[in-house]
Amino acid sequence: MSTETSASVQTGTPPATKGGRLPVAGRAEVRRSFARLLLSEKFRVLSAVGLHLVAAAAAAVAPLLLGEIIDHLAAGGGVAGVDRLAVGMAAACIAVVLFTWAGTFVAHRLGERLSAHMREQFVDRCLRLPMPVVERAGSGDLMTRSSADVPEAGNLFRDGVPQVTVSGLKVLVFLGAMLWVSPLLGMCMLVAVPPITIGTRWYLKRARHGYLREREAESEIGDTIAASADGARTTGAYRLEDRRRRAGDDTVATSWAAVRHTLFLRSVFFPFLDGSYALPTAAVLIVGGACYFEGVVSLGMVASCAVLTRQIMFPLDHILVWVERIQRGAAALARIEGVAEVEGAEDGATDERPVDGTVELRDVRYAYPNGGDVLHGVSLTVPAGERFAVVGPSGAGKSTLARLISGVDAPREGTVRIGGVDVAALPLDERRRRVNLVTQEHHVFTATLRDNLALADAGADDEELRSALAAVGADWAFDLPEGLDTRLGGTARELDAASAQQIALARIILADPDVVILDEATSMLDPRAARDTERALGAVLAGRTVIAIAHRLHTAHDADRIAVVERGIVAELGGHDELIARDGHYADLWRAWHGEPATRRGTDSG
Ligand code: ATP
Repeated sequence: MSTETSASVQTGTPPATKGGRLPVAGRAEVRRSFARLLLSEKFRVLSAVGLHLVAAAAAAVAPLLLGEIIDHLAAGGGVAGVDRLAVGMAAACIAVVLFTWAGTFVAHRLGERLSAHMREQFVDRCLRLPMPVVERAGSGDLMTRSSADVPEAGNLFRDGVPQVTVSGLKVLVFLGAMLWVSPLLGMCMLVAVPPITIGTRWYLKRARHGYLREREAESEIGDTIAASADGARTTGAYRLEDRRRRAGDDTVATSWAAVRHTLFLRSVFFPFLDGSYALPTAAVLIVGGACYFEGVVSLGMVASCAVLTRQIMFPLDHILVWVERIQRGAAALARIEGVAEVEGAEDGATDERPVDGTVELRDVRYAYPNGGDVLHGVSLTVPAGERFAVVGPSGAGKSTLARLISGVDAPREGTVRIGGVDVAALPLDERRRRVNLVTQEHHVFTATLRDNLALADAGADDEELRSALAAVGADWAFDLPEGLDTRLGGTARELDAASAQQIALARIILADPDVVILDEATSMLDPRAARDTERALGAVLAGRTVIAIAHRLHTAHDADRIAVVERGIVAELGGHDELIARDGHYADLWRAWHGEPATRRGTDSG
């Protein structure tokens, strides 16, 4: 995203799992989140359960009446009695159809709503994810979670929950009907319990890990493809095609092994279940036959129970089939819920609020993961409202400094304060409101120009949007055929990098933060336009603290003060004229920028 609103703070190690991947929620958290979602729709849940309960009760009536008909005929009853019972059966069948239809309708609406809640929650959480966490996790992981896990978990809500609830109710009602007809024959169902329990436990014990592994492997494929696509030019230039192909083959092989494992689990589990289903019917017929000859039960009772055992098997089968899909859905939900753990862990909690836009760094040291320090004890104070420039050679640590000030990263040692408050301790929303970082990477969303700007301030009116565009010199925006309603990005109007950069700068004006950090934010504009834009921006942002990481030294020239950063320390600090007079690092940079040889005469300071 272009306006890199100071995304986050790392308070210790973020809860990303191996390889920096986003965390996966535990079973208890998945259950809690599931219950929370169900509770948010309790009225619909109760309606769906009620309607299906009536449908299941009506479905149990037919076998019971069948038994009545048999007993009626066995007792020498007439056709009139059979007709009466047959009418009852027909009425029960109509009730089954009507209540199942109504229950399914309510259940599917419920499923869609739960799925929508989950999606909205996920999008909210993704937008609040700290940038370093996303960087470490890799875009593939987040992409797979949103493109594969969200639909999978959506299926769980849309189909899984209704199917399992309905089937569970049917099993209970049919079992109740069997026990009511004959407790002895009803008990015959128990013969299916041991094999089904053993089989299901065996499967469940392995399935969660299997499906999580399958999902993780998909993320790895996503990462590898994204990396190959992003670095296609480099791959071509250095002839790395074979290496990229091998990396792709390796991830596909890992994924294939994971898929084969879950396939193996299914190929054992389902045939085993099919075998278990035959047992209760056989038991009812054997026990029922023996009892009939003993005169304990009637022929009609045996027939009713035999039909009910067959009827129970359909919903039971449904439940067990769904056990498999629920495992997949639960694995997906665990990955979706895992995102919440990052959000909670990285959000600061102080009640203190910055009093102004003063930026203070005290003895700040920072190292990237698996690397040595790139900042070696930087101390700086930028008073509120100052226009401050940071210059220095490539790799000196300027962008790192920008990330620390904006709270994207936290220092390994030392403190970064805004208006007297530790940036790390500020809640995420507050940080985003107070400090904005604009880098040279800009994203134009596939949406109207108005929507692209309103990201920074949803309440801004057209006049405010237009004046923000004017302030950054985006004159092209006023010539657009549909004005602010012109669609940008995607297959609509493609903007060049300079125009995209202007949109990012206009967002800054609309967001109106206390502190603005511009990290090569005008690098895509031509030098004259860049200087004009910076001056216009400076006028609009007057009173805000503006820290500009400058490659073009005219930015430094226009600033109130300049820090020269070299090898992770502040080597010089002062105004343009002062630093030129000092004839140190800055004077060298200034001469080099003007194409003169570097002939430093003064001494270093800082
Ligand atoms: P440039 O002007 O080229 O952008 P810079 O002064 O902004 O350079 P930084 O980008 O802050 O310098 O980099 C400082 C040091 O940290 C460099 O040695 C760089 O290689 C290293 N570095 C930067 N980003 C990362 C990263 N994500 N992981 C590891 N090391 C990094």
